[in-house]
Amino acid sequence: MSDFKPTRLGVLTSGGDAQGMNAAVRSVVRTSIMRGLEVYAIMEGYQGMVEGGHLIRKMDWDSVGGILQKGGTLIGTARSDAFRTRDGRLIAAKNLLINGIDSLVVIGGDGSLTGANIFRQEWSSLLAELVQKGEISQAAADSQPHLLIVGMVGSIDNDMFGTDMTIGADTALHRITEAVDAIASTASSHQRTFVVKVMGRNCGYLAVMGALACGADWVLIPESPPDVDNWQDVMVERLKAGRKAGRRDSIVMLAEGARDREGKYIGSTDVQRVLEDRLGEEVRVTVLGHVQRGGAPSAFDRNLGTLMGYAAVEHILNTKPEFEPVVIGIRGNRITSAPLMYCVEQTHAVAEAIKEKDYETALGLRSPSYKEAFRTLRTFVRALPHAPEPGQRRLKIGVVNAGAPAPGMNTASRAAVRLGLDRGHLMYGIRNGFEGFAQEDIFEMQWMSVNGWSSMGGSELGTSRHVPKGSDLYALARTIEKYKFDGLLVIGGWSAYEAVYKLNQERANFPAFNLPMTLLPASINNNLPGADLSIGADTALNSITEAVDKIKDSAVAARRVFVVEVMGHHCGYLGMMSAMSTGAERAYIHEEGITLKDLVRDVEDLKRGFHSGKRLGLVIRSEFANEVYTTPFICSLFEEEGKGVFDVRQTILGHMQQGGQPSPFDRIMATRLADRCITYLIEHAIKNDAQSGFIGLHGGSIQFHNIEDFPRMVDLVNQRPKDQWWMELMPIAKVLSGAGPEIANNM
Ligand code: ADP
Repeated sequence: MSDFKPTRLGVLTSGGDAQGMNAAVRSVVRTSIMRGLEVYAIMEGYQGMVEGGHLIRKMDWDSVGGILQKGGTLIGTARSDAFRTRDGRLIAAKNLLINGIDSLVVIGGDGSLTGANIFRQEWSSLLAELVQKGEISQAAADSQPHLLIVGMVGSIDNDMFGTDMTIGADTALHRITEAVDAIASTASSHQRTFVVKVMGRNCGYLAVMGALACGADWVLIPESPPDVDNWQDVMVERLKAGRKAGRRDSIVMLAEGARDREGKYIGSTDVQRVLEDRLGEEVRVTVLGHVQRGGAPSAFDRNLGTLMGYAAVEHILNTKPEFEPVVIGIRGNRITSAPLMYCVEQTHAVAEAIKEKDYETALGLRSPSYKEAFRTLRTFVRALPHAPEPGQRRLKIGVVNAGAPAPGMNTASRAAVRLGLDRGHLMYGIRNGFEGFAQEDIFEMQWMSVNGWSSMGGSELGTSRHVPKGSDLYALARTIEKYKFDGLLVIGGWSAYEAVYKLNQERANFPAFNLPMTLLPASINNNLPGADLSIGADTALNSITEAVDKIKDSAVAARRVFVVEVMGHHCGYLGMMSAMSTGAERAYIHEEGITLKDLVRDVEDLKRGFHSGKRLGLVIRSEFANEVYTTPFICSLFEEEGKGVFDVRQTILGHMQQGGQPSPFDRIMATRLADRCITYLIEHAIKNDAQSGFIGLHGGSIQFHNIEDFPRMVDLVNQRPKDQWWMELMPIAKVLSGAGPEIANNM
């Protein structure tokens, strides 16, 4: 094996731009610097590599400052026809050699990664040709026998094999959801149908997830065309049935590559014409186009770009030139790597299968989470209120929200109610948490009771933090008996979990509690066991990120440090992840604690930074990080110690974090989890099996845990899970905030 050690790394963005590419570039640049590599930006993608000169620029720590929140890619991207030719790649190789660049991080789509792989394979022959033509000396060629390559996928339509998410897809979904929410409000006031076309030539990801997030009525995607020839009739029937059930608006979501079984493209005007003819009403078409690439990147895309960029540099440092190049991906919450060419080939295989009308293969190659979301969506667009089948037991299922409000609670309640009604059961809404439950504040829910809930923030049912005890238990048992509930879906946070655990414990005293209960995790704090992400946390993280963007904008001229306090109770998830998404210098969280020594070191670091040109400092403090070193305390300390160098402003973000319309991720996850919970409750109630549990996305798949495991899985004093996956990311956040090479070298 060679003892090759990379010294100069080049980074480029290529192909279509995607939000989050800046975060990725920033991360590659800063991680490289922390790891002792020199780093160059190759501007305008491969075109810059071919043109060379000023398009290949040395980067330092500050050259990527202030870009996290920007859309697009600051180092430019282009499509380069020259690089597609060997002659073009010959010049590109010479340019890399001139600059001594021995490793490359390529951020782009499958085209860009294919190009990268070809370039690497040709490297030695390109050098030989350059020597032969007298363009470079043999010694120069010998000095750089290898080119290391790592790929990262930046693509808004999430079309790449080997990763659950590509950089930019989440933000594109944000844009789609915002647009459809706006359309839905006008559509429902006029009784109209809208056809919304989204990107995705070979991948229906945006259409499927967008439809799920927005409660669209029909979806058309490339990988799974309608399975009948008369799909127009089926679609029209569905929309009519939705209208009969009370809907005023209908939305059809269409991917740009949607086609019928014969492979014939279905255009938005085709759909429009069919609907206008058969529904006899106005149908409007909205083609979202480049809006989907626009705007600030979502918190998820910033953090995804950051984590992938870090992993890419680590890979460069730890790989050997003779190893296959890889593409960095994500599965569940884990950053992964997979052979680059295999991923590109499989991606092409999907496109090929679609072309060959082999739709089963095409869908089969998609990620498990995409496939499951598509299944849920299919159930959803077909769901309608149904009478029970002959001989079917008609169950009574209660839905309650408990704990603090979390965006997505309504989405989950809506999904649960509609799926329960679709399966022929009776659904009951319980108002104001367990408090309302004990007071019998209950009503039967119909299809239209949850109309429009998918995009609403807060809790329409009402929620409370009350954990039942003493006489409440009698009242609850009486109510359950009176209503003859067969199952209970509890959507909520920590106190909801405590309540269900309590009812489960009290079964010997109150036989009424012997019914299956499921907990659907909904809390912005993300402090629930068995769930890597609870519903609401993504929305809160985006709200914090947007607020901090604005706060940072307000300080363009001043030399100022902002200390921003975020929620989370004793769980530092929001603190740590928002520090990463906003580029904060420090995150103070309870899990790590705060010492006076930390504060002194941090104030000195800030002073040093401001002395060498820094204009803005940002520190995030999680609300219960330390009882004594409160946010006002830290502000006063920084203000006093930083006198004459910077001033300090305190911002306590407060309850805005619990509000707002749920993010696409929260809506999709709420719907998927509600689907699983209702299925669980029905199956268990029919078998008279009262086993109760909590659900969550855990390690990449949706799982149930027995409620009895609750105390074992949590730190009861600090009210958070014992195992918090995101704590592993803390050192990465520190490297990128410039917390010092000593930390970087310790990793
Ligand atoms: P994406 O990377 O988003 O799929 P493209 O397919 O347009 O976008 O590729 C971007 C650039 O990558 C192209 O303009 C070209 O410079 C380079 N590229 C793509 N495919 C190849 C290839 N087969 N050989 C060499 N370069 C390629």
